[in-house]
Amino acid sequence: MARSGAAAINAALSSIDDAELIALTRDLVRIPSVIRPGDATATEAEVARYIERWFGKQGFGVEVHEVAPGRPNVVAWLGDTDGGRSLLLEGHSDVVTEGDPREWTHSPFGAELVGTRIYGRGAADMKGGLAAAMIAAAAIKRSGAALRGRLVIGALVDEEGDMLGAHHLCTTPIGRELSAAIICEPEQNEICLEQRGVVWARVTVRGRMAHGAMPEAGVNPISATGALLAEVPALERRLRRLSDTSKYLGPPTVTPTVLQAPAHGIGQSNVIPSSARLTLDVRLTPGPDGATVAAEIDRACRRAMRRCPGATVEWEPVNGVRLATRVARSEPLVQAVASAVRHVTGRPPRFGGVPGSTDGTILRMTLGIPIVTLGPGNRLIPHQVDEHVEVSELTEAARIYAAAALNFLQR
Ligand SMILES: [Zn+2]
Repeated sequence: MARSGAAAINAALSSIDDAELIALTRDLVRIPSVIRPGDATATEAEVARYIERWFGKQGFGVEVHEVAPGRPNVVAWLGDTDGGRSLLLEGHSDVVTEGDPREWTHSPFGAELVGTRIYGRGAADMKGGLAAAMIAAAAIKRSGAALRGRLVIGALVDEEGDMLGAHHLCTTPIGRELSAAIICEPEQNEICLEQRGVVWARVTVRGRMAHGAMPEAGVNPISATGALLAEVPALERRLRRLSDTSKYLGPPTVTPTVLQAPAHGIGQSNVIPSSARLTLDVRLTPGPDGATVAAEIDRACRRAMRRCPGATVEWEPVNGVRLATRVARSEPLVQAVASAVRHVTGRPPRFGGVPGSTDGTILRMTLGIPIVTLGPGNRLIPHQVDEHVEVSELTEAARIYAAAALNFLQR
């Protein structure tokens, strides 16, 4: 007979094998899935094949969606929506570059288990979280729990790039049927209810080329770029006024990250270039919509142009506008996760916010579903050398996912 409620949760929790979770995490870390543009063999393909085979062996339904050449999403599921809910446990299968391996104490793809930690690129961001989600789903299946709805596990590509995998999932039938998602990113197992949004504003400043000795003959795009940089604090202040106060995210920020003049070719000391390029990394908190943010960036560009007659200052978003996301504590998803944390850890849940944006941002914006970000690993460790995950956080996360999924899919 299928168990329900606390009995079903306890049965699933006792089906979690920590040694299996550790081994799975290490296997995933050992498969480098760094994307190296131009190298067709350096993609998520190999790790995706591993995940596909693993779910197949566990008896899950599995779909592989080729998002781009050699870049497949793997989507596995248990149960049926049948008008009920569909919960996604989401992880990304790509990792960022290891950088210079000589700077690492532990080999970046060695997945060394040292003391209480597993080391390696992706250990925290986020093969650990992905492995925890996989083991949680397998434990639910092994325990024979009856689901009133569908549990989906997604290993998506390109989170560290343009989030193509998340965008693609939203176009598939299984994606469109989702009613909520837990994003398994490293957040020290805090329940993150908010994520900052981002706009990368690529600004092109055009002037007129001239001899450096006769500046009056040209229009200097570098001066106009300087005028725009001078507008940045005012832009930041306006965005802060337009945004809600966020307990977890701090205020919006506007940070110049790329500055280039001339925009093309090689600079010369005695030549005023014809163009310059600037990127502003604009981080958003809940409040303004995309059009409002764009209008504020437009305004800063117009003010810079007014101070530099003859120059044009235009911008475009590099990868669209990702707004900040927020879910209410009263959401059934949040309740399900909070109750799981209490059940598994015996302590009250800690709530938080994600300083960056994640695949969850895309799911929230495109599908309108509630998302919670929670996963194992120190929030500051991603992209650093000697990245690692604490085994205790990993095993705790798997238990939280299993309990949260059963809470959410049994009501
Ligand atoms: Zn990540």
